[in-house]
Amino acid sequence: MSDSFYKGFGSVAIHGGHEQDPRYAHQVPIYASSTYVFDTAEQGMRRFSGKEEGYIYSRWGNPTLSEAADKIAALETFGLNIEVKGILHASGMAAISTLLLSNLKAGDKVLSHFSLYGGTEELMHRVLPGLNIEPVIADLRDLNKAEEAIKANPAIKLLYIETPANPTIQCVDIEQLTKLGRKYNLIIACDNTFATPYLQQPFRYGVDFIVHSTTKFLNGHGTAIGGVLIGKDVEFMKTQATKTHRLLGGNGNPFDAFLLISGIRTLELRMERHCQNAMKAAQYLEQHAAVGKVNYTGLSSHPDHATAMKQMRYPGAMLSFELKGGLQAGITFMNKLKMCTRTVSLGTCDSLLCHPASMTHYGVPKEEKLKYGITDGLIRMSVGIENTDDIINDLEQALN
Ligand code: PLP
Repeated sequence: MSDSFYKGFGSVAIHGGHEQDPRYAHQVPIYASSTYVFDTAEQGMRRFSGKEEGYIYSRWGNPTLSEAADKIAALETFGLNIEVKGILHASGMAAISTLLLSNLKAGDKVLSHFSLYGGTEELMHRVLPGLNIEPVIADLRDLNKAEEAIKANPAIKLLYIETPANPTIQCVDIEQLTKLGRKYNLIIACDNTFATPYLQQPFRYGVDFIVHSTTKFLNGHGTAIGGVLIGKDVEFMKTQATKTHRLLGGNGNPFDAFLLISGIRTLELRMERHCQNAMKAAQYLEQHAAVGKVNYTGLSSHPDHATAMKQMRYPGAMLSFELKGGLQAGITFMNKLKMCTRTVSLGTCDSLLCHPASMTHYGVPKEEKLKYGITDGLIRMSVGIENTDDIINDLEQALN
């Protein structure tokens, strides 16, 4: 059944991308097979020459992986009536690598915002320059600064947006940046990991590519690493992007894809609850005497509140807050948590809290941390879908 049949996002999350299994399994099987058999040598010839569709080798394509990619592509285009193609990857970083390496060549530059997932930032600063591809970093919340950066660097070919951004939860305006990018003929890509297509659809504003770390809210249960690249230029996706993906070897595995498909089925329900809980947690933290500042785009006090509300259904499930007592207060608070989980990563059913100063950013020079707004007492929280009162009670007993 075509995805256009469905009126509701939740139905696409359940049925989208699914094809009837030839052996009538209700759910997509985990196709644990590295290769696929040809009936005849002639059939092999037709498959290799592209005259006949069909699987050949699982690094090149696998039915379980295809279903996961098609489902996410259907959600990213829900209600938009555009054709896209998605490729599932082993991780968000693998998808981002395919995006950048299939679009950029030596001498090109990539423009991005200063708040960016650490792995993406390192890829841009430590790997791409070795290939003579340079990053240009600007405050993309300021369109004038973004335009100045483009004018000063005519070699910029790709505009890379991540919104809301990791770890600061800053938001940039996808519509305005896409218009700006178009004016200068740039390729525009957006990392939609924090929002998921339920909260935000970057294709609505005309971006060319979307990437996700499916490890987070799309999987939703913290059971598998994965990533996806989705592109509007279907021909490019079938040729250049497919070739890069196959040769870099960043294909996912069918078991992880199966877990991802199962997770996506409940995306709408989970995101609704995640966002309700996040708002309640943010409001609770905002009035607590031990908390100096709460960074949640759902609060009108957040500088990016208007941008978030313009392009997102709800402001998401990620927030951070600063404890007035600094480093020691952060450590004490983390150690006292009873139900919420002390860990990095985000997007799972349980609430996850991370203290960057003692964990992800331990050892990073203070000036460097402050550039990204990471103070010693900062706590990042991925708000889960537990009972709301249980979340607030755990925060309260750890704060008091
Ligand atoms: N993009 C964002 C916004 C992320 O937060 C992450 C990981 O945390 C990634 C990309 C990379 O994803 P993965 O860890 O699946 O490679």
